[in-house]
Amino acid sequence: MTTWTDRTADRPIPLTAPGGIDREAHHRLDEAWLAAAWSHPTTRVFVVSGGQVLIDDTANGGTEIVMTPTFEAPDTEVHRYFLGTDEGGVRYFALQKDTLPGRMDQSARPAGLREAGLLLSPRDAGLMVHAVALENWQRMHRFCSRCAERTQIAAAGHIRRCPACGAEHYPRTDPAVIMAVTDEEDRLLLGRQVHWPEGRFSTLAGFVEPGESIEQSVRREVFEEAGVTVGDVEYVASQPWPFPSSLMLGFMARATTAEINVDGDEIEEARWFSRDELRAAFESGEVIPPYGISIAARLIELWYGKPLPKPLPVRES
Ligand SMILES: [Zn+2]
Repeated sequence: MTTWTDRTADRPIPLTAPGGIDREAHHRLDEAWLAAAWSHPTTRVFVVSGGQVLIDDTANGGTEIVMTPTFEAPDTEVHRYFLGTDEGGVRYFALQKDTLPGRMDQSARPAGLREAGLLLSPRDAGLMVHAVALENWQRMHRFCSRCAERTQIAAAGHIRRCPACGAEHYPRTDPAVIMAVTDEEDRLLLGRQVHWPEGRFSTLAGFVEPGESIEQSVRREVFEEAGVTVGDVEYVASQPWPFPSSLMLGFMARATTAEINVDGDEIEEARWFSRDELRAAFESGEVIPPYGISIAARLIELWYGKPLPKPLPVRES
């Protein structure tokens, strides 16, 4: 019997920020406190626009979000998000703007989370995820879902209030499940979504439906997409996925059947891979692994037992 252990702790999952920032949610409704925090000389602010921020290279070879003291910030009273305070007492805000500020130097450049999430420190990535998630939610919840009146930003970006009916609306996070399914022979099930580029395979995933437990959701999604029945389901780790507002809940799941029957609608192909088969398929380029920020790569690695092999460089013929 295989016992899964969470080995993600020593290597944080991209977009998750273990420690480092205290969100200080209890201050969000205190306008005087927020004003004092904003005007403090050590406070730092960055602009978020359409899911992007400006990033820049650091002297030691890293990458950071371009931040400024608040007195240099663009004048935006309304779309100001308070993100929290770091261990050194520095407070962070994000300003939502229609455009990013002009480039400050040669190496500063706009980046979305799929790129920046792999480059930034966990602290900066965590700040960016928070800001992008709030921006997405604010953008899509400008009107009251009860009475259709235009809502107003409150609580430093974490509430939208309706001036007509008094309703308060809070940021949405939509749970989704993503699972590495293995069979009796300890092979891994990977699938190809219809719209993915040729060769790309990854773990199956889907949204949790109303009235469903997450374990039920794992079993339903795997059966719907691949026709495989799942028994034991074990939670591994989660990952914020603000594209636009999901939380990915990662699982290892054990199949009780092996016959594959894809839905052909969402998944066009699904296959069982042994470790040797997956390594060979990666190395030959037949299968493109889910590199990048997704928790999918970590789930596959957890089954594989070590970091995934790199594909061989494509040879020009
Ligand atoms: Zn309303």
